Amino acid sequence: MSGGYKVFVTRMLPEPAIEKLRNAPEVAEVRINPHDRVITREELIEGVRWCDALLCLLTDTVDAEVMDANPNLKVIANYAVGFNNIDVAEATKRKIPVTNTPGVLTETTADLAWALMMAVARRLNEAERFLRSGKWNGWGPMQFLGADVWGKVLGIVGFGRIGKAVARRAWGFDMRVIYYDYVRSDEEIERALRATYVPFDELLQVADFVSIHVPLIMHGPNKTYHMFGDREFDLMKPTAFLINTSRGPVVDEKALVRALKDGKIAGAGLDVYENEPSVEPELLEMENVVLLPHIGSATNETRTRMALIAVENLLAALRGERPPNVVNPEIYSAEAD
Ligand code: NAD
Repeated sequence: MSGGYKVFVTRMLPEPAIEKLRNAPEVAEVRINPHDRVITREELIEGVRWCDALLCLLTDTVDAEVMDANPNLKVIANYAVGFNNIDVAEATKRKIPVTNTPGVLTETTADLAWALMMAVARRLNEAERFLRSGKWNGWGPMQFLGADVWGKVLGIVGFGRIGKAVARRAWGFDMRVIYYDYVRSDEEIERALRATYVPFDELLQVADFVSIHVPLIMHGPNKTYHMFGDREFDLMKPTAFLINTSRGPVVDEKALVRALKDGKIAGAGLDVYENEPSVEPELLEMENVVLLPHIGSATNETRTRMALIAVENLLAALRGERPPNVVNPEIYSAEAD
């Protein structure tokens, strides 16, 4: 099958991917959101109504109402590994393949989790703010004493692609790595990654750094929404740090503020927030919190790879093939029935 399809891209993406789309024989026309901002819901619905294929971002909520705008929509290709912004059950009902971009951002996001860990433990941002403000008068024996990272216990919650990549980086720091996941890894993988499985509560009680790598799941038995709240912070050590590069709503942000204020944990390094782009105002005032604007996968190399993968998935669906990174593969087996 070739030619004739219209593709709507909800935000400008790295050029090589756009070029690939424009040159693809399956594609007749590409429309890109011309604004450097998240599109409004109305613009999204209008774009979906117009297109055959949607290339969207984690900032776009693609729910039943959006899908209703176009009963012939052929694919929803998400430019992210997380796909909690899409109502996959609704897409499956309509037999629309939904795709993501796993793998290519694993190492880059793991790097950022480590950057946060180092920054919050060694007070990098706070110390830099101090220097830039002109207050530094020279070396001081008690200036900016932080916490060691090396030799500590690293607790990884969600031992998937990124969780494992974070674990591997701990070897050079002589850390003991423990992990919790609702699916326990094979012994061979545990041995290779030098990581020990522990129940969730034990991890919280023992770890000096708790790094979150679960997907956001809003409902059901494996729900991760508010997996971290008052109870979990009570269990953590007062010297421990929380690192979150997964999705904001996995952490109850108000409970996190309480835990930091009450000294239940020592600090936090955050890349994601419960109600992005807003951040609990009290966090902005805290020196023991490092705050980044959701830049986990933000390198030139990785963002280009992600965009190319999203385009490959989208084009495969337009050709009537099963996309390499389809997250609702059951639509294909249902077709065989
Ligand atoms: P993955 O699917 O490889 O790993 C997720 C792991 O979490 C799996 O091992 C799964 O078994 C486990 N898990 C799921 N539900 C659980 C539960 N209820 N309790 C315990 N464990 C559970 O995914 P990944 O590629 O490692 O990515 C993880 C998440 O990181 C993504 O879903 C995305 O939301 C987030 N992410 C964020 C950024 C960023 O920019 N900050 C970048 C990439 C990914």
